[in-house]
Amino acid sequence: MVQSIQALPAPVVAVQGGAAFPVRRIYCVGRNYAEHAKEMGFTGREPPFFFMKPADAVLTSGRMRYPSLTKDLHHEVELVVAIGRGGSGIAAADALSHVYGYAVGLDMTRRDLQSDMKKQGRPWSIGKGFDESAPIGTIVPAAQAGDVHHAAIELTVNGQPRQSSRIDRMIWSVAEIIEHASAAWTLAPGDLIFTGTPEGVAAVVVGDRLEARIEGLPPLAVEVVERER
Ligand code: MN
Repeated sequence: MVQSIQALPAPVVAVQGGAAFPVRRIYCVGRNYAEHAKEMGFTGREPPFFFMKPADAVLTSGRMRYPSLTKDLHHEVELVVAIGRGGSGIAAADALSHVYGYAVGLDMTRRDLQSDMKKQGRPWSIGKGFDESAPIGTIVPAAQAGDVHHAAIELTVNGQPRQSSRIDRMIWSVAEIIEHASAAWTLAPGDLIFTGTPEGVAAVVVGDRLEARIEGLPPLAVEVVERER
């Protein structure tokens, strides 16, 4: 008889206070800040749209290997929502009761490949859903996270400011994002939602040190290192 393969354990994100958050799915919202939509060539309030990254794209080591195939790796600092209670068809008014906690995340993007795929009308997976493309900091339980919905969000590279905005400038709020996402998919404990990035996205290179911050959450530091061949 052919042997079964061993299932790999779910990737785990640390929770402040010592708990663990095993990741099931990673949803990401596109163009959720007006100024970023503008810098990508779009305007107006469109319904939120989603793409996904594989669960094992989460990176918690603080060291991101520069990915293959790209010459234009971009940072996108984002508020990440960790889902603790699942459901489908969740109303925005109830949505925050499904939130387990919040973290700082980076939606790392192979911008050159994403742009090619956009032009050709092809899926974004190669530009967005690659290995280690979802660095994430420690999750803070919602009750301890303070008012993240009005917090400042920023990213520096080697100490230089690159992105700076406020969470309340999101086009779609956390509650509205959960409503929209749960209309399309059944959310479950372990799901992460990256809620979109403000303006100022740009490239990083090997040796760069990224520091992502959202008021009330532990900062996320990531160093970009050479990929071993
Ligand atoms: Mn993004």
